[in-house]
Amino acid sequence: MKAIKVSVQIFLFTLVFTLVGVGLYLLFPAFHPGGFLYPGAAFSASGAVSDTVIVLDAGHGGMDGGALASDGTMEKDLNLALTLQVGQILKYSGFQVILTRSDDVMLGDANGGKKKQADLAERLRIAESGEDNVFVSIHMNKFPDARCKGLQVYYSPNDPASERLAEKVQQAAAAIQAGNKRKIKPATSAIYILHRAKVPAVLIECGFLSNAEELSNLKNQEYQKELATVIAAAIMDGVINERT
Ligand SMILES: [Zn+2]
Repeated sequence: MKAIKVSVQIFLFTLVFTLVGVGLYLLFPAFHPGGFLYPGAAFSASGAVSDTVIVLDAGHGGMDGGALASDGTMEKDLNLALTLQVGQILKYSGFQVILTRSDDVMLGDANGGKKKQADLAERLRIAESGEDNVFVSIHMNKFPDARCKGLQVYYSPNDPASERLAEKVQQAAAAIQAGNKRKIKPATSAIYILHRAKVPAVLIECGFLSNAEELSNLKNQEYQKELATVIAAAIMDGVINERT
């Protein structure tokens, strides 16, 4: 078990190290004057890796706790903890990051009482605040059958890049969730933001609060760190893949 843990860590370290290296190489033309970002290169400003803004969305917040685990753990808190870590890794790697929320709050101005709708509309507005945005929403799952476990990625049906990014994240999940054979799914109208988004958009259900083992993992800080690293690495891989 220990050997597996160490090899996972080596894998993650190598993956991140490689991606950060590739990211820096692409982002800083000074390192490679012949590179595609160098002035004069045949490359439009829009669509470059350095123009990409990752909009990270910690699902729920404030009076909307999201899914509730049997031990009282609220989805909104795990979403935020993980999202902040993913954001930090992406920033350290040279990416521009916007967080829809960095505190325990609900978004939107709900005059008239439709708080959830106002919250989602505001997240969608932030998602689409720039044409080079890529939207990644982070959630936790819950299901009546306690055996269900494993990260699951949904993608916006409006842009093929969403599906490609979802695939990257779904595949990367196997690095820390052995045996996760879940397949990516297109978002239906039930997933408000993804169904409407005009920028590449995915939603990651990181695991099931209704599964005892997964709940314990998702609450564990070491596991959170590893999961955040895997998700950030997959996002970087996806973005670099699209923009080069
Ligand atoms: Zn949720």
